[in-house]
Amino acid sequence: MALIPYGGWFCSRSLKIYITINIAMSETDPILLHNIDTLKGVGVKVSAYLAKLGLYKLQDLLFHLPFRYQDRTQIYPLSRVRQGQEVLIEGRVVQTKILQKNRRMLVCQLTDVSNHSITLRFFHFSSTQVLSFSVGTRLRCFGEIRQGYQSGLEIIHPEYDIITDETPLALTNSLTPTYPTTKGLAQQKLRGLITEALVHLSTVDDAFPETLRQQYQLVTLSEALLTLHQPNPKHSVAQLLSTKHPAQQRLVFEELIAHHLSLRKFREYTRQIKGVQLQTNDTFYHQLLDALPFTLTNAQQRVIAELKDDMLQSYPMSRLVQGDVGSGKTLVAAAAALTAIESGYQVALMVPTEILAEQHLKSFSQWFEPLGLRVGMLSGRQKAAERRDQIENIVLGLSHIVIGTHALFQEAVKFKKLGLLIIDEQHRFGVHQRLALREKGSHAGRYPHQLVMTATPIPRTLAMTAYADMDYSVIDELPPGRKPIKTVVITNTRRHQIIQRIGAVCQKGAQAYWVCTLIEESEVLQCQNAEETLILLKDSLPQLNIDLIHGRMNALEKDSAMQAFITGDTHLLVATTVIEVGVDVPNASLMVVENAERLGLAQLHQLRGRVGRGTAASSCVLMYQSPLSYIAHKRLEALRNSNDGFEIARIDLEIRGPGEVFGTRQTGELQFRIADLLRDQPLLPSIQSAAEIIIEHYPEAIQPLIDRWIQSAEDYAHA
Ligand code: ADP
Ligand code: MG
Repeated sequence: MALIPYGGWFCSRSLKIYITINIAMSETDPILLHNIDTLKGVGVKVSAYLAKLGLYKLQDLLFHLPFRYQDRTQIYPLSRVRQGQEVLIEGRVVQTKILQKNRRMLVCQLTDVSNHSITLRFFHFSSTQVLSFSVGTRLRCFGEIRQGYQSGLEIIHPEYDIITDETPLALTNSLTPTYPTTKGLAQQKLRGLITEALVHLSTVDDAFPETLRQQYQLVTLSEALLTLHQPNPKHSVAQLLSTKHPAQQRLVFEELIAHHLSLRKFREYTRQIKGVQLQTNDTFYHQLLDALPFTLTNAQQRVIAELKDDMLQSYPMSRLVQGDVGSGKTLVAAAAALTAIESGYQVALMVPTEILAEQHLKSFSQWFEPLGLRVGMLSGRQKAAERRDQIENIVLGLSHIVIGTHALFQEAVKFKKLGLLIIDEQHRFGVHQRLALREKGSHAGRYPHQLVMTATPIPRTLAMTAYADMDYSVIDELPPGRKPIKTVVITNTRRHQIIQRIGAVCQKGAQAYWVCTLIEESEVLQCQNAEETLILLKDSLPQLNIDLIHGRMNALEKDSAMQAFITGDTHLLVATTVIEVGVDVPNASLMVVENAERLGLAQLHQLRGRVGRGTAASSCVLMYQSPLSYIAHKRLEALRNSNDGFEIARIDLEIRGPGEVFGTRQTGELQFRIADLLRDQPLLPSIQSAAEIIIEHYPEAIQPLIDRWIQSAEDYAHA
């Protein structure tokens, strides 16, 4: 029996949640569990590099997989090599000279048996090297074939060996893997260490019981690992790197199941702790409903009922609510909040942007203040005195609900009696962050409920696998009377026409957004670009009130810009993508997005969701800069054809195609080594069913799986 943090992945040192669980420390398989520094040539320095890669045990080396392969198994005749190939070649030096063009370089001409020649070019070289390349010398080189400027094919800085009759070089008989590494740790070194670990491959614990392995048609773990680390050249590299390959499939399956199992354990754990228990007559709730100018949709009512049900349980709620943009998630959150408040608890509402915090502050004040409730706000940009007051209200329990960004959970902020934490538009918040927040809000051994809301379409199977620690609800209905947003895609050479159109619709009382997107790495440039656009639009449309909002304005400026737009004083709001999430101004019915080709589908869908929130017919103009790439074209077309988040997500996946690495936008906290939630979606039902079988019949397999895929206890120890 050993004491390890529960599902290590979730726990940071601050959390101090330990659970003692029985893990069968395998006695037959000790070597792979040894620390890497038991290997020859691994000292303090190398250990530190390996730790950076998350590698601590011998076994971790086995699971550190190549991201590409080189074929050094055969020598290519120069007559057959093509530009862009990485190949092994062999030939005799026919000429060596030092050239002084823009830079000094060593240039060496090589001819092979096919009587073709190639140039080797070195920008860094020693005099010994020059001497060793004497005419007639046999060289074996590896590198990427390039087209030289004048001189035919060439390789720049090839890896090379000099061949003599005494030292004939054997060819490797497997493809050569290239591993992700870190600065300071040479590829060669890492490759060597992994090769050493592979010696013990036969002792690796397969974890999957034989019957299960066969049922899901998985190859054995050792076969999968050997294939990926030392592939037989008969495999095509493309095939190896695609998840279709059985070796990859096995590992993807394992990784997904490990994550799923750890989430399930986490969920189990949640069921064992105590939540704050709420009791309410729904008095506030009904008062709120009476004051609303509309009735809730059926979907809103259903989800609210689910939330209330959850909060009556003895354990803390942990629920993910998905609802497309404009489905009315804020009111659902408000209803849940009232349940907690009526039971005498406080509520925290956390949002990703200041603008959204301001907006929620307005909505909640409007809804809650008539009920005699106090709405607080914490933002990173508040003045010290104001902030102090707000914090005091939280600590004393005077604020019933507090809205804020991350600032909400800084050290100084301690809620008197937190009953519910709502996280809006941030489901990518990792499980351990959610756990940390829950911990922070706990008092007297009871934990606050958690509600996570997102517009990001997450298919049910995906939610049940990847967010298995949470329950899942969908608001699958938009408030009545919404008209679909008409989306048009046009080139920016027609900018002038669009400006005229804005002028016309705004004079009839409509409001519009003009969204400037610029390569997003630079917020400064983005804001500058928006400022320039503002000047240009003001020039063209002197009859309109045009204003600006961007991330570098201070809170007050942003607030007054937003306020003027909400009240309708501003006709046209020039904005950066800061308005992407949550912003809700129902009267705005036109949006222009510049350089739409630069944004991803999910982001464009979110942005577009800022219009179409009222009863007026809305439109969205996606303006692009020619030429459009094939993928960008497909993306814009998808938006033009659909308003449905799920459909758009599906197309997104299709366009990108499997095998492509998805950005962090999609996966965020859920970092997988080889699995990809979107790409591997078809596997998810099997993951769930296999997990059931493991939990039911082979519980001893759970911990080893979690340990080797999820940064294990080791990471914890090194934290
Ligand atoms: P999201 O789900 O994108 O967060 P919001 O909560 O911001 O959506 O709601 C979008 C708009 O719809 C708001 O102006 C809100 O007041 C309004 N709304 C919410 N529920 C309803 C409803 N049942 N009927 C009509 N309008 C509603
Ligand atoms: Mg919202």
